[in-house]
Amino acid sequence: MPFLPFTRPTIDEETIAGVAEVLRSGWIASGPKVQELEAALSAYLGGRSVRVMTSATEALEIALRVCGIGPGDEVITPAMSFVATANVICRVGAKPVFVDIELGSRNMSLPQAESAVTPRTKALMPVHFGGRPVDMDRLYEIAKRRGLRVVEDAAHAIGSRWRGRKIGSFGDLVVFSFHPNKNVTTIEGGAIAGAEGAELTAVERHRFHGLTKDENGDAEVHLPGGKSNLSDVAARVGLGQLPHLESFNARRRALVARYFELLQPEPAMLLPDRSDEGHSWHAFTPLLPLDRLALTRAEFIREMHGRDIGVGVHYPAIHLFKHYLSLGHREGDFPIAERVGRETVTLPLFPAMADGDVERVCAAITAIFEAHRR
Ligand SMILES: *Cc1c(COP(=O)(O)O)cnc(C)c1O
Repeated sequence: MPFLPFTRPTIDEETIAGVAEVLRSGWIASGPKVQELEAALSAYLGGRSVRVMTSATEALEIALRVCGIGPGDEVITPAMSFVATANVICRVGAKPVFVDIELGSRNMSLPQAESAVTPRTKALMPVHFGGRPVDMDRLYEIAKRRGLRVVEDAAHAIGSRWRGRKIGSFGDLVVFSFHPNKNVTTIEGGAIAGAEGAELTAVERHRFHGLTKDENGDAEVHLPGGKSNLSDVAARVGLGQLPHLESFNARRRALVARYFELLQPEPAMLLPDRSDEGHSWHAFTPLLPLDRLALTRAEFIREMHGRDIGVGVHYPAIHLFKHYLSLGHREGDFPIAERVGRETVTLPLFPAMADGDVERVCAAITAIFEAHRR
């Protein structure tokens, strides 16, 4: 059996030929393909402004900077996400204020987020975990009432919808990732949607050295910007991906439906909430019933690898990493994030997977649980 990874990008021959064409064109850094990709993303998001960059991590950091967030400010964010979500808050000099997640949705608890607001709070930074939108009505109701900015970490959520509206087509600043593991890719890449006016100008300046040129070609530097511009080669990959986004996500939903049907090992795994409404199913992340297995998660993952099946871990609780412990957090602070961080496994899910692959994964899990029941 060939190795089945937990994720793999799908890149068609037309895209590969298009990349070769860009490489031969003589213009491979940021240029016309970047503009085309931004226009295509903007059209996809109902006309909102979009600026692409080298990663979602860069885009999140720039989003915080253009909101004016820095030393002395607090940003409320979930204790369970990819660590970039919290790192960028630290990188701009602000303080990440963690709140726990909900077990079913894996999204930040909004009541806890509201309780965590202090006079220093400047923004809410939720994650649409695994592609499931947070409750946008409630999120923006809190933000409005408390006068807070929102930077949505939508790294998992391109194509997700809230009450029929695409994530990124409304709301405050919304950040997508185009890392190869995400639902569409530019190899490495990310984007900010929703910046307007002076903030949009600031996004562009942060992205490229703070530099502008006037009509005479004279340079001016407005702020000490970084270097986060995407290349045309990468943008061409994204342009080849976008037309497939809806069908990729439909395929993900179909595969997840199959998992819900077939994945019934004994002892049972705790599955994420079933609701498919507006869900891009970036990742399928059940919890291992470790209390009923004579097996650690690492051993489970090794057994799956032994059967040529890749399994990921998304994600350990952020506050228990060394750096965040050093900021004063401790075990027990966010019990659901900690439980998910200990028990979660990411099963194979990507558009090119066959139905038979889901059957293979489920059969392997059943056999492993059978052999290691406590
Ligand atoms: C992948 C990811 C990021 C970072 O994306 P990059 O494009 O790799 O920088 C941020 N937040 C979450 C939740 C992610 O999954």
